[in-house]
Amino acid sequence: MSQTLYATVAETYCKLEMDDELGLSLDLDGRWRSYRQGERFYRRTIKNQYVLDNNALDESQAVEVQAELQRSLARMLGRLGGEGQQQISGDRTALIRWLEKAQAWDYTRLQDQVVYYRRAYIEDIPVLPPDRYHDLVVLPATGCPNARCRFCTLYQGSRFEPLTPDQFAEHLQCVRALYGQSVVARDGIFLSSANALALSQKQMLSVLEKIKLCFGSRKRGIASFYDPEHAPKRNENQWRQLAALDLRHVVIGLETAYTPLREYLGKSGHLQTMQASVDLAKAAGINIGITVLIGMEDVGDEEAHFEHTRDFIGQLALQSRDIIYLSPWTLSKKTGLQAQLAGWKTALRSVTAAKVVEYGLERFFYFA
Ligand code: SF4
Repeated sequence: MSQTLYATVAETYCKLEMDDELGLSLDLDGRWRSYRQGERFYRRTIKNQYVLDNNALDESQAVEVQAELQRSLARMLGRLGGEGQQQISGDRTALIRWLEKAQAWDYTRLQDQVVYYRRAYIEDIPVLPPDRYHDLVVLPATGCPNARCRFCTLYQGSRFEPLTPDQFAEHLQCVRALYGQSVVARDGIFLSSANALALSQKQMLSVLEKIKLCFGSRKRGIASFYDPEHAPKRNENQWRQLAALDLRHVVIGLETAYTPLREYLGKSGHLQTMQASVDLAKAAGINIGITVLIGMEDVGDEEAHFEHTRDFIGQLALQSRDIIYLSPWTLSKKTGLQAQLAGWKTALRSVTAAKVVEYGLERFFYFA
C-alpha cells in the first residue's frame, strides 16, 4: 500500500487521496462533495442526501458515514502535520485551512442545507440533461404547461405557474445562500422547471437580466427545457434577444416523430412548429437538444417510430454543438435496451452531425 498523501488545491475545490484507501473532494465552503473509503464511493447532493451506488442512504447510515469522514479528516490533518510522504499541488497552508473548515461541517450543520434547499426551491429538481448535471439551477416557474404526457413521471398533472417578480428575486437570494461561495464553481445555469420558455418574451428577458445581475455570465451559458407547442412563438430577433442574455441551449422533447405514437403519448401530432422553432433558435446561435424515447414496442410500432424519427432528425440542420438524447422509456418492460441504444446511435449518427448520447431519467441526484 502506498503511504502517500496526494492533494490538489484548486481555485474552486480541493481534493485529497491518502494511502490508496481514502479520497475526499471539498467545495469552496469546505462541504464535502465526494468521499471514498476503500471500495465505497459516496457523493453528497445539494439537499444533503448521502448517495452510495446511486442509492440515497437513510439517516442513520448517513450519520455513520459522516462520523467516519470526520475521522478521515482528522487523519489527513495529522498526516499533513507529520512526516509521511506528501505530494501537494498548490498552497499547503490553504489546504490545512480548507480541511479545518471541512471539520466544522458536522452532520447537524450539513443538515441545515436541507432547510436552505427547501427555501430556495419550491419545486424539487427532478432531472437535468446529462451534460448540465453540474449547472446552477434557477427556477423562474414551476410545473408544466402540457402536463399530460402518459410516460411522464415528473410533471404529469402539475400546473405551470410562473414565479412573481418578487418571488423570483427572493428565489435568487435563497439560491445564493444555499450554494454559498461555491456558486462560482457552477459554470452553467439551468432554468428549471419543465418549460421555462413558456414564459412570455417580456418575462423571459426580465428573468435572464435578473440572473445576470445576480450571478454574472457563466462559461457554459444558460440552458432550459423547451416545448415549442406550449410556448409563445418567437421570431429570430426575439431568439437573438434571449441569446444576447446568455441563453445558449434549449432541450426539446421530441420523443418520436411518428405522429400517431406522439399523439398517443400526449404530445402534438404536428411537427411543423417544432421544426420552425429549431430553425429560428439555431439561426440565433442557440444550440438544440432533442430527446427521443426508445423501448416503446409495447405501445407503438417501433419500426415506424424509428424510421420517422431518424428521418425527421435528419432534416433538422443540427451541428456538432447540438445533442440528441436517447431516453429509455421508463414504462418499458422489454429487455435488450442496450442493443436498441446501440442501433439508434448508429442510425442517428448517419443522418445528423449532432452528438448522440444516452439520457437515463431514473434516480436522478443533483450532486453538490
Ligand atoms: S411536456 Fe415534458 S414535462 Fe410536460 S408532461 Fe410532457 S414529458 Fe412531462
